[in-house]
Amino acid sequence: MNQWDFQRRKLLQGMGIGALGAAMGGCAGLATGQGSQGFQRPYSAKPLIAPKVSSANIINQIVGHRPYRPGGFVVRSEPFGDKTLVHNYGHGGGGITLSWGSSTLAVNEVKDSPLKQAAIIGSGVMGLTTARLLQDAGWQVTLYTKAMPQFTTSQVAGGEWGPYSVHDPKVSTEAFKLQLQQAAAIAHHTFSRMVGKDYGIEWKELYTLSETPPQGHDEFAQYYPFAYQYGPGKHPFAASYCSASATMLVETSTFLRRLVQDIRVAGGQFVFKTFTSHDELFGLSEPVIFNCTGLGSHQLFGDNEIMPAKGQLVLLPPDPTVDYLTVGGSEQPLYMFSRNDYMILGGTFRPGDWSTAPEPEQTERIIYEHQQLFARLI
Ligand SMILES: Cc1cc2nc3c(=O)[nH]c(=O)nc-3n(C[C@H](O)[C@H](O)[C@H](O)COP(=O)(O)OP(=O)(O)OC[C@H]3O[C@@H](n4cnc5c(N)ncnc54)[C@H](O)[C@@H]3O)c2cc1C
Repeated sequence: MNQWDFQRRKLLQGMGIGALGAAMGGCAGLATGQGSQGFQRPYSAKPLIAPKVSSANIINQIVGHRPYRPGGFVVRSEPFGDKTLVHNYGHGGGGITLSWGSSTLAVNEVKDSPLKQAAIIGSGVMGLTTARLLQDAGWQVTLYTKAMPQFTTSQVAGGEWGPYSVHDPKVSTEAFKLQLQQAAAIAHHTFSRMVGKDYGIEWKELYTLSETPPQGHDEFAQYYPFAYQYGPGKHPFAASYCSASATMLVETSTFLRRLVQDIRVAGGQFVFKTFTSHDELFGLSEPVIFNCTGLGSHQLFGDNEIMPAKGQLVLLPPDPTVDYLTVGGSEQPLYMFSRNDYMILGGTFRPGDWSTAPEPEQTERIIYEHQQLFARLI
């Protein structure tokens, strides 16, 4: 079982018996005796429409590198010459999800700073949310970046709200796990208040599919209330077990674009600059520096624990009739996120793989497995 599977399985477990008291029998009223033919959606009266998955429909294939650290993300401050350096990087497969929370923790590190001027290195989701939080607290910010948001890993993300694939629980410390809980709580609260078209955030029905029944307890179960469980034959997907819940979907293209606008309106500036040494950072005029460089922290700050977790996505045209998301249904990472800009089919999760080209055999697998998964739907 790879890291991705492990985390997703935990998600499924979290929607299970212990967390919700909604065992398969308990919620079976939705499906009992009806078989998958009579399946009723928990959150919608509309039928489940199958996405049109075909290699002939492919718009694009893309690869992104999740900034993954087995020990978890880094949020802490330290003296840096005559400046203060605040790290906020290494969020693996959950950076969109955790952004507002992690950046709040980072900003709190310098809340008593007398000089409210910050240089933020990086303009992915961590740099942008850090900038907005500082501005709301009365700071002047300048974002120095190698690439604007539309060319970052943050833009590539599928954008499902789920604090998973962020760390390896066998490696990370208890202190980190607490920090993760704090970041998730703040982020969930903030995203929930921002739901709407203007920021590209909406609630979606999420079906999590697996071959094993849900069991155990998940630390993030509170963010997936009202989950319903369906056993074999009680749902229309080509998998044994199915959990239905609601989650937020963040359309990264809209979200990041809107944050850039907000930052500019509040007086923030963007400067193109690639930093290659600490001397260049010492030369900045701002007394406080935020490191939001994601995977760039490997080179710029010598973090040897951070590595890319390669993710490959297949993009299809958007289809508004497909108004739900799926995760799982294969031994390998598999997900379908129906967004307004694209239908995203994923994927892969390969820690340590720096290659940037999409692999044709992965594209073929992603297409084929999704075709199988939805074969029984309309
Ligand atoms: C395929 C895929 C699917 C994903 N799906 C999800 C999902 O569904 N939900 C979720 O929550 N997360 C998801 N993620 C994870 C998420 O995308 C990342 O965790 C998040 O984008 C990291 O944000 P960041 O701002 O730290 O890094 P980035 O977006 O990589 O931004 C880093 C910034 O730093 C700049 N930079 C780097 N080095 C330097 C330097 N030396 N000098 C100047 N600037 C520098 C870059 O130009 C960039 O602007 C996914 C990721 C991938 C790849």
